[in-house]
Formats: sequence, C-alpha cells, structure tokens
Amino acid sequence: MALIRCLECGRDVSDQASACPNCGAPVDTTLAPIAPNKVTYNNGEFDGTSALIMEVAKSAVSQCNYRIDSADAVAGTLTFTTGVTMGSWSGVSGTIAWQETAPYRFKVTGHGKQNVKGGQVLAINLFDEANAKSRNVIEQMMRLTGAKSDEQVPDSATPPSGCLVLLVALAAPALAVGLHFLA
Ligand SMILES: [Zn+2]
Repeated sequence: MALIRCLECGRDVSDQASACPNCGAPVDTTLAPIAPNKVTYNNGEFDGTSALIMEVAKSAVSQCNYRIDSADAVAGTLTFTTGVTMGSWSGVSGTIAWQETAPYRFKVTGHGKQNVKGGQVLAINLFDEANAKSRNVIEQMMRLTGAKSDEQVPDSATPPSGCLVLLVALAAPALAVGLHFLA
C-alpha cells in the first residue's frame, strides 16, 4: 500500500481506496502523485511527506543535542530549545517549519530567539546566534537526507540579518524598562 494525493481535495489517500474518504472523488492511481517513502534533499527543498520530514527534523534536533519542545506534523512545525549559549543564560528557542510547495515537496525554514530570564543582555549578535541554531538543524536535516557536504542552507531559509538589527534596536529599550522595574 502506498499513499497518493487526491487530485480533488489534496489529501493523502491509500492507493487501494476506490474513492477519497475526504471528498468522495474517485481515486485515479495513474495520475495522482505518489508519496515518497523516504525524505531526500534536492535543490534547496525536501521531497517526502510531512510526517517523514517531522522524523528527519526530530533526528536532526537530537543530533545537535537540542531538546524537542513540541512537534506538529499537520502544521509542519517543530520547536526546540538549546542549552545555555554565549548570549543567554537560558538558551535559544528555535522553530523549524516546512511548507509544501508542490506535491510531496517541502521548503524548510527556521528561526530562533534568545531566551532571557532575569539576566541582562549585552551581546550584540543575539538574534543571529539564535537563528544560527535553526540553521544547524536544517543543515543536519540536509546531511541526513543526502545533501552533499558542501551544500549550504538556502539563504531564504533563515531571516535576513537586516531585520534582526531592527529587532535588537526595538528590544533594547523594552529590556531596559523591564530591568528598571526589576531593580
Ligand atoms: Zn479528496
């Protein structure tokens, strides 16, 4: 048995079914895209199913020695927390997300934020460091699914640094106010 894509509603259905259980359309095994049974990395995107990409993402997070916080294969997200890092006393929270761009083909993106609990933040490059953790996970996912060792995470997969500088500028006054009240 294999999963194939219903051409009417886009759900995955068994190739043994005569009609889609979701929309009732007849299942056409000659035209419907067939779900891959493993994940492969090709030209900046991952081929597979959302559930299989979830498994790869979980393995990648574990191999980076980060902790998995939540996993949602339907939404296509995995969140994780790192240990204590240079810019933070409570680590980085990262999110890996995947979106289908074509049948069984997914674009994987990631971002991170620094966790700050009761400490003052002095490092300048906080958000880049946080995003780098998500980049590590995506890179590990690429290695696990057959990317060549010199292939880089596509630039679009993590936010551009221009926005991050702005975030630092906006965050600094808010933190200063917060610390004032704590003092
Ligand atoms: Zn259907």
